[in-house]
Amino acid sequence: MTDSKSAALKKTEPPNPFTMVQQKIAEICHRLGAEEGICERLCHCKRELIVHFPVKMDDGTIKTFTGYRIQHNDVRGPAKGGIRYHPDVTLDETRALAAWMTLKNAVVNIPYGGAKGGVVCNPKLLSMNELEKLTRRYASDISVFIGPESDIPAPDIGTNPQVMAWIMDTYSMNKGYSVLGVVTGKPIEVGGSWGRFEATGRGCTICTGLAARHRGIRLDGATVAVQGFGNVGATSTTLLAKEGCRIIAVSDSRGGIYNAKGLDVAAVQRHKKETGAVGDCPNSENITNDELLEMDCDILIPAAYENQIHEGNAPAVRARLIVEGANGPTTTEAANILHDKGVFVVPDILANAGGVVVSYFEWVQGLQCFFWCEDEVNQQLHNIMDGAFHEVLEIAQREKVDMRDAAYMLAISRLVQAIKIRGIFP
Ligand code: NAD
Repeated sequence: MTDSKSAALKKTEPPNPFTMVQQKIAEICHRLGAEEGICERLCHCKRELIVHFPVKMDDGTIKTFTGYRIQHNDVRGPAKGGIRYHPDVTLDETRALAAWMTLKNAVVNIPYGGAKGGVVCNPKLLSMNELEKLTRRYASDISVFIGPESDIPAPDIGTNPQVMAWIMDTYSMNKGYSVLGVVTGKPIEVGGSWGRFEATGRGCTICTGLAARHRGIRLDGATVAVQGFGNVGATSTTLLAKEGCRIIAVSDSRGGIYNAKGLDVAAVQRHKKETGAVGDCPNSENITNDELLEMDCDILIPAAYENQIHEGNAPAVRARLIVEGANGPTTTEAANILHDKGVFVVPDILANAGGVVVSYFEWVQGLQCFFWCEDEVNQQLHNIMDGAFHEVLEIAQREKVDMRDAAYMLAISRLVQAIKIRGIFP
């Protein structure tokens, strides 16, 4: 399908991701027979903070930015979730991402609730100095929420280990001592964990291998298209290429590239580093993001942004297996279309959980001041992802539902149990 046809079919307004997750939670609570009051609780965020804060820009002007920190739920442990810097950040998007974190942490059974934060800004247009000032002021303003026992941020779109180091430093300066456990995804030099930077992509790769085996697809020689060439997309691409996959297409926000014989992933990475984009990489043909999503391939990994596979392009998706590296890349309507077409989808709350699993390891290591080697981190990550994948698959087969519903069933049943055991205060 051409871009214009896809675009015409695309709804003018993308669906509200928080409404989408609330509807899914309600549907699964109903299926599980959960109490109405507990369902309502899970459909709301526990705490919501909106901050408007000034930053003195390099040219001397003062600019006001808006940021959020949302804690969806902390019944199973401290709230945990990333911070996003992007011009399209909204309150409802942050709420949805926080809710997905609660569900994700319950799917992989780690003792965290869910949170998310964001600042409406374009980090690509800020100097390093402005980015640092923005980060430190945002961290100060949300410090009433965050802390190693209450709410632990991590990187997401537009943020990175350096941003986490500034947040850790700002929080620590106000405390008067170094607090390693306040953020994860930090650089190794200041309490980061080996394997954290690659963890989300590694988790995606583990899920891809398990799903491929389940569907009788040989990874060696399987054709793969990856949307988004940032932390999650580029790591997944590199690791899948090492497994023998033929990476035929990758993309970033400016467009994609294609080579039917397989892209040289290391060369693409060098090209992206030098030019800032994957487009125009030697030995490849430029394509659009819509063309990538509709590509004839065995495995598709959307690892960019929400609402990328929608009812307009889902009928044209030709992949046999989709592994959701991004949060919320598939709308509810598209998920139904893919299910009817027999596409096997590993949902976001399972597929991209590797990042928060290793964040959990980083937090544990920081609290104990005892650090593990990379092999141990990767082995423990593998054990958790493998266990969670098989628990979800078992529910999907037993209850005759797709992997998304099965993952929601596993997460929500754990949350409902925790709420019941703790009881309602007072
Ligand atoms: P990133 O900022 O490192 O990379 C995002 C990539 O997506 C960039 O290459 C960007 O150019 C591209 N992109 C953005 N909009 C696009 C579009 N419309 N079409 C194609 N490409 C587009 O971010 P990331 O950390 O890799 O996060 C990607 C996704 O994975 C997000 O949904 C995020 O919430 C999710 N996620 C990230 C982590 C993590 O540990 N970083 C963990 C779990 C989930």
